[in-house]
Amino acid sequence: MKIIYEGKAKRLYPTDNPLEVLMEFKDDATAFNGKKKAVFDNKGRINKQITLLLYQFLEKAGVQTHFVRDHDETKMIVQRVDIIPIEFVVRNVVAGSLSKRIGLEEGAALTRPIVEYYYKNDDLGDPMIAPDHIRALNLATDDELERIRDEALTINRLLTGFFRDAGLRLVDFKVEFGRRHPDLQDIVLADEISPDTCRIWDLETNEILDKDRFRRDLGQVMESYQRIWERISGHAAHC
Ligand code: UDP
Repeated sequence: MKIIYEGKAKRLYPTDNPLEVLMEFKDDATAFNGKKKAVFDNKGRINKQITLLLYQFLEKAGVQTHFVRDHDETKMIVQRVDIIPIEFVVRNVVAGSLSKRIGLEEGAALTRPIVEYYYKNDDLGDPMIAPDHIRALNLATDDELERIRDEALTINRLLTGFFRDAGLRLVDFKVEFGRRHPDLQDIVLADEISPDTCRIWDLETNEILDKDRFRRDLGQVMESYQRIWERISGHAAHC
């Protein structure tokens, strides 16, 4: 099958409909800008299931996503979008690069969520940028940025509650947005929401259950992703 695009964790294929593409979740894992690599059996399947469940939950709550329909174990049909080259990171608890940058201890709760912007550019190593840089690079208008920021905070509020009810703490996560074809006017949530792109800890014990298990060589990576899936699918079944 012809590939439209291949990234570190996903592949896109064309469909008969020019406005829709097939998104495949790969078993490949990378960290530290691609310097650390591994393959985990079943990762694509689990991440697709988790993204699908979270997209369906968010859509029900009124968040527009590029999701169209499920396809098979590792693939879903999504609307064709032009991804805005900004990673929106929302944080509820200090972890990872934030802890290093501002010197607060990992695990410290933030009184208000923080939204950060990173420029999606592999050659530059995805640097953090401010709204003025977004303007200078013409990545989004002020109005679009404000709307996306509000949407990212809404997604955070919804997901934080959803995970909490499933016995999990949503520490932080990254989301991406795209301009929907054909007119590129509507901006919708795109890409994935999975343990690869979120920090998720056990609510009681703070045990790390996300991609940090791979980044930090903690072992039991897929077992932890599977535990997240079991908790959220169990919770979703009761909603
Ligand atoms: N993140 C991501 N892709 C990236 C960078 C970060 O999905 O290219 C996610 C990461 O999994 C975490 C959050 O964004 O949930 C914040 O990551 P951070 O800035 O702390 O970076 P890290 O410590 O992972 O380098």
